[in-house]
Amino acid sequence: MTGTYHIWTIGCQMNEADSRHLASQLEALGFVETRKADDADIAVLNTCVVRQQPEDKAVRKLTGLGGVKKSRPGMIIALMGCMVGKREAEGLLKTFPFVDVFMAPSQTDCLIDFILRHDAYSHLDRAQTELADYRLPAVNRDKAVTAFVPITLGCSHACSYCIIPYRRGPDRSRKPDEILGEVRALAEQGVKEVNLLGQIVDRYGFDLEEGINLAWLLKEVAKTEGLLRIRFLTSHPAYMDDELIRAVAETDKVCPYFEIPFQAGSDRILKSMRRGYTQAEYRQIISNIRSILPDASINTDVIVGYPGETEADFLETVKLTEDLRLDMHHIAKYSPRPRTLSFKMKDDVSAEEKERRRVLLDEVVRRINVEKNEGLLGQTVEVLVEEFQEKKNRWRGRTSHNKLVFFEAEGDCLGKLMNIKIDWAGPFSMIGTAE
Ligand code: SF4
Repeated sequence: MTGTYHIWTIGCQMNEADSRHLASQLEALGFVETRKADDADIAVLNTCVVRQQPEDKAVRKLTGLGGVKKSRPGMIIALMGCMVGKREAEGLLKTFPFVDVFMAPSQTDCLIDFILRHDAYSHLDRAQTELADYRLPAVNRDKAVTAFVPITLGCSHACSYCIIPYRRGPDRSRKPDEILGEVRALAEQGVKEVNLLGQIVDRYGFDLEEGINLAWLLKEVAKTEGLLRIRFLTSHPAYMDDELIRAVAETDKVCPYFEIPFQAGSDRILKSMRRGYTQAEYRQIISNIRSILPDASINTDVIVGYPGETEADFLETVKLTEDLRLDMHHIAKYSPRPRTLSFKMKDDVSAEEKERRRVLLDEVVRRINVEKNEGLLGQTVEVLVEEFQEKKNRWRGRTSHNKLVFFEAEGDCLGKLMNIKIDWAGPFSMIGTAE
């Protein structure tokens, strides 16, 4: 063993994928995972700044590690992810002088370079990490049923409130061979479901040769032996076309599942957000999906309390939610992020009002979810089993529509497709019996 590492991850699936990649590189060099960052020879914080709360959490965690390093000066501390941007690294170094490496999202090689130059580890060889991209880290190896595979990196859209384009750079597609190689390797290691990731995943291939797009890639990934399910996220309404929807409908392994944020119901707010579509255009996309795939499951993201959002604007969001009856809604209260366009706007919806709107919309969403999930009572659904929850002595899995299902069963169900009869339905999960 070369030493120990710990990676603390917060934020989106893209961060999870980056952490997996880094863990496999560190393990290829002989490092072994340890459960606590305080005990690790290499401690990495993979951060998110989409909202204030995860950023505050990372700062608290980092400050604590600074204290630990005083008693263990040989420890290497790396800060990774969206907290680190080119311009920010200098300022961060002044605030956190004990951090050894600052890595922008997906730039894991910076830490590997630092380790290889470090006196204690200079005997290690970079060549050891070459195959690491496709290897699952030990922490995942026995239980990874699903894995995240980035296919586009960065985002060029620049929605007014979003910090991601400034942190992850303009969007670019990964080469198909690289993606297909990674998926094949994951399947060989027991992964049953891959989630193809991108900030705007349906832009995949815009910078590659003609004919290579997400619809094409889904069909290619589906040829992977041993793989049972494929999902992709997150889509943008402006790039979702019928070719992609048909590819989902026609490719067995691709789940009938879409993640398409609408963010707001009011055209005035959508324009200010620079989302690039109107409410009517969003409705049309949902109608196109449902005409090709009538039972498709559709998740969305919504922001309440954006600058200038009046009660009338908010009620348009509620009406859109009521009308479309989508399957899941991730509701966020607007939080201004420095360097974004909307940061210069007056954050004029009070914290109490944002919370009132969140709660009101959440009630609508819960009602819709219960009504939809109760429609499955007594029916049998196919669940891919992802985890055994020891404390509750039950298995957890998902339907192809991404509905969460819990059930009790003897024997090892991990990674298997099981038929579960639904006995109870709540807003966010269901409980059933194995058949
Ligand atoms: S599409 Fe908009 S919200 Fe999504 S990552 Fe890009 S800028 Fe951010």
